Amino acid sequence: MTEIITIPAALLPRDGRFGSGPSKVSDAQLKALVDSQPGVLGTSHRQAPVKGLVRDVRAMLAELYALPEGYEVILGNGGSTMFWDAAAFSLVRERAQHCAFGEFGSKFAKATDLAPHLAASSIRTAPGGEAVLPEAEDGIDVYAWPHNETSTGVAVPVLRPAGIGDALTVVDATSAAGGIEVDIAQADVYYFAPQKSFASDGGLWFAIISPAAIARIEQIAASGRWIPESLSLKVALDNSRADQTLNTPAVATLVMMRAQLAWMLAGGGLGFAAGRSARSSGTLYDWAAGRDWAEAFVTDPGLRSPVVATIDLHPRVDSAELRRHLRAQGVVDIDPYRKLGRNQVRVGVYPAVDPEDVESLVQCMDYLVERLLT
Ligand SMILES: *Cc1c(COP(=O)(O)O)cnc(C)c1O
Repeated sequence: MTEIITIPAALLPRDGRFGSGPSKVSDAQLKALVDSQPGVLGTSHRQAPVKGLVRDVRAMLAELYALPEGYEVILGNGGSTMFWDAAAFSLVRERAQHCAFGEFGSKFAKATDLAPHLAASSIRTAPGGEAVLPEAEDGIDVYAWPHNETSTGVAVPVLRPAGIGDALTVVDATSAAGGIEVDIAQADVYYFAPQKSFASDGGLWFAIISPAAIARIEQIAASGRWIPESLSLKVALDNSRADQTLNTPAVATLVMMRAQLAWMLAGGGLGFAAGRSARSSGTLYDWAAGRDWAEAFVTDPGLRSPVVATIDLHPRVDSAELRRHLRAQGVVDIDPYRKLGRNQVRVGVYPAVDPEDVESLVQCMDYLVERLLT
């Protein structure tokens, strides 16, 4: 291995964290943690200070998404992965349809497909870098797809398919929420976790749910189906309405999440936050288009994610070597998704990432590639 090529300090980003999750946590969020001491951290989640924190986060999410009448924000422990299992128990009546065009969409599809109390799922697939959309099908009561497939950098519209009757649309917004605008009325369930666009730690899940989703959750809970308590969305709904969780939540994560929501709302809301990501990802896609050794992995420009940009590199440019030089200088986590196995960089540009730091990042990559290509 060659020695590390020193990048001039003037080219380096001020903050070199470009991970797709966990992602950059801002200084303001850390300050919020310090400021919450004493009084919140290390105190009971059944008392007013932590309940107030949960209430703030729920109310701020409702404001960020300008929730339509009857929509509610619920939360629970276990992250989005746990939510998939909860959905298999509490949202799917008999059979789900999934769009699987990457790792995360495929994992949710597997969760319902293998659930013994459900019929085998209908799974629509597309290769990595492409997408497929939900389509009305007989006997389906849940249509599930990711708003943003984080493993490939593909973002698709959130649109209720025509002709689906009272079936629910259940959208994985783990990496989209907070960074991509959406017409929330198109989703019955829009769920996510705090470690992507909300720049916090993992471990919790949040879901924005429609009146139809609430009715479904209540109907299934009353049906006599065995549901583990920790995976019951009825239990989560009841607790959330009381600004509680079934069991102890990560209080520090909630403090950081509230701080990030406050920053988004102060800046102007979802349009402001999404605008930052769009600018950052635009920098990356434009940069790739201007290099003969780089190109956007997602060939259809309309599917290119505004929050996670995947850029293929020409075989002459070794992504691992490029990333080794960057990491040694504090520019980290632009690794491609493990299982995609491409010579690629994948850059998480959630709203917390400064668009100017992305301009620095591309300059750093140019600087290194000029010297690595001999
Ligand atoms: C990160 C991610 C997940 C998994 O989230 P966890 O909270 O780690 O379970 C699921 N779906 C998408 C689209 C993601 O980006």
